[in-house]
Amino acid sequence: MRVLMIAPPGAGKGTQGALIAAYFSIPHVATGDLLRDHVARQSELGRAVQTHLQRGELVPDQVVLDIVRLALATAKAAGTGYVLDGVPRNIEQARAIYRIALELDMTADVALHLQADDGELVRRLLARAALEGRSDDTEDVIRTRLRVYREVTHPILSWYGQRGILVSVDAMRPAEAVGREILAALEVLHSLTEHVPEQARRTIDLTGLGDAFGHPSPSDTPG
Ligand code: ADP
Repeated sequence: MRVLMIAPPGAGKGTQGALIAAYFSIPHVATGDLLRDHVARQSELGRAVQTHLQRGELVPDQVVLDIVRLALATAKAAGTGYVLDGVPRNIEQARAIYRIALELDMTADVALHLQADDGELVRRLLARAALEGRSDDTEDVIRTRLRVYREVTHPILSWYGQRGILVSVDAMRPAEAVGREILAALEVLHSLTEHVPEQARRTIDLTGLGDAFGHPSPSDTPG
């Protein structure tokens, strides 16, 4: 199973990425975690990206593309799939990752989109800030991260929709419910991707399921 996770800050990428990785026994590569680790160790790379992280801005594309290339090559050598969490974050990264993955014959089976509205995201991030004290979880920086997501990350979803590998999930519910829905969708896709060529796949939108269970509609729309 080869998964890209695309979601606004606070939607639960880290939690759900770890769940998917454990379930399918595949590596979970979270670019944000790796970059924070570099900053904590004050490596050369860490010092170069520190200000971007503090401000909630994207680090240069080449930095994350190097991380992705290494992760995909490692997964290929190990004969596993992967969960890439937090990447791609703009259309240039999306295209470059597709090229890298094509070269390695490791293109994604699924672009998993977690959707949630800004009010809920800010609430979750501020709650997490009180517990973990991540330096980019202040209200100002959270606003910047959300704006970056809306402006440059959210628009890439349509590209995955056209490729027929987009799965959207309503992430406004408790983590366990979201996780169950993700695993159920990935299980179905897992068998499907073995038999259906990429060009013949369709977008899967599960975000309306909330309505059927009496939840309000999510409103993860740009702007
Ligand atoms: P969140 O989604 O909550 O903002 P992440 O841990 O995924 O948290 O990312 C934290 C920070 O790491 C981002 O604000 C950005 O500075 C940097 N980052 C992570 N992934 C990327 C990426 N693919 N491209 C550019 N910057 C990234």
